[in-house]
Amino acid sequence: MQAPQNQNTDNPGIYTEIYRRHRDFYESGKTQDHHFRASQLKLLRKVIKTHEREILGALHADLRKPEFEAFTSEIGLVYDEIAFALDHLKAWMKPQKITTPAVLFPTTSRIIPGSKGTVLIIAPWNYPVMLLLSPLVGAIAAGNTVFLKPSELAPHCAALMETLFAENFDPGYISVVNGDGAKVVSEMMDAITFDHIFFTGGTSVGKIIAQKAAKTLTPVTLELGGKSPAVVEADADITLAAKHIAWGRFFNAGQSCVSPDYVLVHRSQKQKFTDKICHFIREFWGENPQESESYGRIINHRRFDVLNDFLKDGNIIAGGQTDREDLYIAPTVVDHPSMESRLMKEEIFGPILPVIPFSDRAEAVSIIHRNPQPLAFYLFTQSDQTSDEYIRRIDFGGGCINNTMIHLASPHLPFGGVGSSGMGSYHGEQSFRTFSHYKSVMKTRAFYDNPLRYPPYNNRKTDIAQWVFD
Ligand code: NAD
Repeated sequence: MQAPQNQNTDNPGIYTEIYRRHRDFYESGKTQDHHFRASQLKLLRKVIKTHEREILGALHADLRKPEFEAFTSEIGLVYDEIAFALDHLKAWMKPQKITTPAVLFPTTSRIIPGSKGTVLIIAPWNYPVMLLLSPLVGAIAAGNTVFLKPSELAPHCAALMETLFAENFDPGYISVVNGDGAKVVSEMMDAITFDHIFFTGGTSVGKIIAQKAAKTLTPVTLELGGKSPAVVEADADITLAAKHIAWGRFFNAGQSCVSPDYVLVHRSQKQKFTDKICHFIREFWGENPQESESYGRIINHRRFDVLNDFLKDGNIIAGGQTDREDLYIAPTVVDHPSMESRLMKEEIFGPILPVIPFSDRAEAVSIIHRNPQPLAFYLFTQSDQTSDEYIRRIDFGGGCINNTMIHLASPHLPFGGVGSSGMGSYHGEQSFRTFSHYKSVMKTRAFYDNPLRYPPYNNRKTDIAQWVFD
């Protein structure tokens, strides 16, 4: 498939025009209606269903995604989010009655979920469909109009998204803006004051977005990356740990924000663990993973070169084969690289797994603390006491005990980072909350108006006030 060209525009005025359409649509009040929001969620599901084959084709063209991985992680997760939102939308939209202090009699209080207005959603290339559409579900549910900015590094998906939204949704409601992110996002943010920006991507671009958004006091959600550790304790089920870590690290050729970035293994289990992980690599992708239909590719040559450089950092005990032309890097295990190497200081974001032995919990925790707070944390242990201790001592976005990555598949669990791995969260109700502003409203009935607060004041009024606030 020929890669489509990015549609950069040399007319930044176009964004103001699109924004005007979005504001008119928003101010018409249409998005405030429950039926409208539900109908747009159903339309989104129908559009994806109708074009499933094209979406799978675009994901294959951009990342050589195996169909199973593409269907489950890019399409299935969005269907789940839509179904969950449709089931709960009425309840989420309902104003909540709140207690009012007796001294404010005769008033009643409610918290009313309101929309934010016109929002911008910026997606990365590694899950170029799901990370664009999953936040969109929340934005629709909460009654916003939406600018979508897909990643230019997954051009087939970006072009397909533009066509599907242009053909199926009102251009005043949802529009897709394609092009080079550094240029397009910067021009859009100069031209428009969005009511919320939802960004998924790397920490360095996240900082640029946050700085720019601060100038207009635009609230941001930042879904970023980082080095997510997996710890395999001495009492862990080693076979299970190796299987879950091999799956999590090499799914999508290691290009998942929540992929286990490196493994800390208790010294007593290290040999068994590395033997098992090599076993599962062979079992999942065969003797030559390059020939496996179940193994993806690196997104582009620039990322390939970065990852290829990482391979110089340690003793390779499995994999290590590369093919630049094919953007292929084998599932690779690196034995105990130096803590000062790039492998242990930068987010790897590819199919390379460093394995580092530790002797006790204090050493494992201190290795994790060498890097900023991770997006995800994985622990393999049979002991609740051990897992409680790790969870207390490590700051991380979210994670799993005795598993990897699957915590993001539940719409009941908010998903997001902490510190340099992000701010804010989404999925399920949390997506609705992220794209809503909650209005606190008091309603006063007219039959009684307490005269206490009005001038002229006197000692008696002051005494009563002191008694009330005491
Ligand atoms: P990126 O930060 O380079 O790009 C993300 C988006 O920002 C793209 O749409 C791009 O067009 C735009 N962009 C790029 N430069 C920009 C600039 N200067 N100003 C404004 N916008 C700009 O990220 P990426 O390489 O696409 O994705 C990889 C990173 O994303 C990894 O660090 C990974 O951990 C992280 N990630 C996080 C999550 C999460 O849910 N927390 C999910 C996927 C990926």
